[in-house]
Parts: sequence; C-alpha cells; structure tokens
Amino acid sequence: MSDLFSKFDALIAERAGVLSTGIRDPFAIVMEEVLSPTVAMIQGRETILLGTYNYMGMTFDPDVIAAGQDALARFGAGTTGSRVLNGTYQGHKECEDALIAFYGMEHAMVFSTGYQANLGMVSTLAGKGDYIILDADSHASIYDGCYLGNADIVRFKHNSAEDLEKRLRRLPAEAHKLVILEGVYSMLGDVAPLKELVAIAKAHGCMVLVDEAHGMGFFGEHGRGVYEAAGVADDVDFVVGTFSKSVGTVGGFCVSNHPKFEILRLVCRPYTFTASLPPAVVACAATSIRKLMHAGDKRERLWAMTRTLHGGLKARGFRLATETPESAIVSVLMPDQETTVRMWAAMIELGVYVNMSRPPATPAGVFLLRCSLCAEHSAEQLATVLDRFAMAAEHVGLFRQAAE
Ligand code: PMP
Repeated sequence: MSDLFSKFDALIAERAGVLSTGIRDPFAIVMEEVLSPTVAMIQGRETILLGTYNYMGMTFDPDVIAAGQDALARFGAGTTGSRVLNGTYQGHKECEDALIAFYGMEHAMVFSTGYQANLGMVSTLAGKGDYIILDADSHASIYDGCYLGNADIVRFKHNSAEDLEKRLRRLPAEAHKLVILEGVYSMLGDVAPLKELVAIAKAHGCMVLVDEAHGMGFFGEHGRGVYEAAGVADDVDFVVGTFSKSVGTVGGFCVSNHPKFEILRLVCRPYTFTASLPPAVVACAATSIRKLMHAGDKRERLWAMTRTLHGGLKARGFRLATETPESAIVSVLMPDQETTVRMWAAMIELGVYVNMSRPPATPAGVFLLRCSLCAEHSAEQLATVLDRFAMAAEHVGLFRQAAE
C-alpha cells in the first residue's frame, strides 16, 4: 500500500536490516539515571558519557541547580506564553543581561532553542532580493532558516576562503548579503578559518552571522567563541548560540550591536509565535552564563582532556577527522555504516557512550564515532575510554579490515 509514509520505506528497510543483526538501536538510548556530567546509567550499567555537549559540565553545577529550583518555586513551571505577550519574566531579562555582559554586546534576544534562534535570525534577516551565502556543511537549523525565508541561497565549499570569494564576486554588488559561518563544525570538530572568511565577507559588503554553538565557553579570552579567538569581533554582526551545550540547559540566543536589532522581537516568527522558556530554565541559564565568565580553569582542563583523547586515539591507530585537536569534539573516522554501528554497539556494551553520526548529518559518505569532552572528565575516565576503544576495535576487527 502506498501512502504518505512510502517515501520513508528505504530508511525503514535500512534500519530493520541493522537491527535484525541483534544490535542495539543507536538512536534509542535511554539514560535511566544521570549521576554526573560524565556518568549515566544506561541499561542498568554505569556508562561514561563521551557523547554529550556538556563541555563545561554545568548541568550539575550547584549554583545553577539552586537558581533553577528557586525560580521553579517562585515563578512556577512555565510561562504559558510568547515573549511578546505574557511570556517575558524577570528571568528572561536577566538571561539577556547575562548574555550582554558575557559577549560585551548591546543587544541580546533569547529564543526557546538554538534551532529556533537560527531559524528566526536567518529567515528574518534576509528576505526577497537578498542573498544568503553559507558554508555547505552548515547545521540543519541554518538550512531550515533558509527554507523558511525568501532570500536567494548560495553555498560555498566547506571552510574554503577561495570558494567564498569566487561566489561573492558573482553576486550583484548592490544586493544586501548575509554570510553565515560556524565557529566549530560539530560533525568533524573542525574550526573555521574565520579571520580569512570574515575579511572576504566584509570586503564584499556583507553582514556576517556566526553560529558559536560549539565554541561558546572555551574559545577566546572571554570564552565568547572562535570569532573572539580569531580577533574578528568588530566585523561580526550577529552571534547565534545555544544554552544546550556549554551553558548546560536549553534555549538559544542572538547577540548583536546593530542599532535596529530590537525590532526583530516583532518580526521574527520563531521568536514571536512560540512559548518562552520556563522560569527555571532561564534562571539556570543566566547563572551558568555568569559563571562561565570566570571559568578559565575549566577551559584549561577541557583542552587538556581534548589533547589526551586525540593523542591517545591516534597513538592506538584510529583515523581522526582532524590532524590536531581543534575543538572539544574528537571524531573517529569509520570505514562504512556497518562497522560504525558495530563499533558503537561494542563501545556501549563496554560502558562508553559516544555518538554515531552518518549522512545526512555528516557530509556524504562520512561515517563517524563522535566523541565530545567535558571539563569534568577525569584522567582515569579517559584512560578507561582509550582502553575500551582499543578493545572495541579488536572485537570488530577494525584494523584488520582497514589493512585488507
Ligand atoms: N547550531 C549548531 C551548530 C548546532 O550544532 C546545534 C545543535 N546541535 C544548534 C545550532 C541547535 O541548538 P539547540 O540544541 O539549542 O536547538
């Protein structure tokens, strides 16, 4: 029988094929209990979490939890409304003030998720007759923002300054243009050459939006992101980010110095037509952001962990997506889908949770076991992880296969 679901048949068959081998579904992991930022109970077993975006370990910060509990008791479980009607509480203002202080910018707008922040900013900023020029490996939320809006879309080759320049040269000089970049690309964990890319965008009169979802907290002197570390803060018009990674809760935002920024609250549909974040969430976020302004020690620990994991995996013969550790994401390249699933399953059986990533989340033909570090990982946990990677590789015959 053919119906609206027929278009998913190939994917349903592929999943059934994988699961029929008796392997656990990598996309159906349930954490029965979360013991700390780095350990959870999965199928009754203590499992080391090496596949979350809890980079700074803020989910269990005592001050963050206390702020959330207090707001829950004083303001209730939810706002039941949009930011522009009944959904702006003191906590949302405090959150925006914390972002203004953290980024040293004049305006901040808090969205209900980072996905919605991109959806809203991208679709609202560039309209009919405008151009959006984006990196081909952009996050789904950026692409979806393009689909929601009316601008003409131009893609350039991932992280290629040369291709960006070539494409900008072809566009009408008088048209309004928005170049969209990310500080860290979350699949391969590679960092964008923002100095070069932003300079080219500015030379062509473009506005620049940088998504710092995976850079906030530990890149740059103040932890603002890769754009800060690259020294291009004065040339970036909009920074988009999320509370679901270093901040340790949920929500999204955009910060900017543009004098007309506040009008976006009335014209940005993914901001206006949805309920605002619950009071407990914004209280957690504001507290966490304020603490991240003084998190130099955590930042150093995170980088040390990243170097240990990257170097340790390389020494054990794994192929990694970046030659050197570029961010807190360390991606292990896998030869094909089947081996990826088997390696992932072996790791979870050994008590280590990593992300399995495959197209369309990854570039075509790229299969990954993605690891992400937390400032709270201990040296012992990393030693255990490295041992278990080697055991899992042995179990699935990864290196034998690669040598054939
Ligand atoms: N941008 C990037 C680059 C991301 O990786 C993500 C989430 N993984 C988002 C935006 C969306 O963030 P959120 O989880 O807050 O919706």
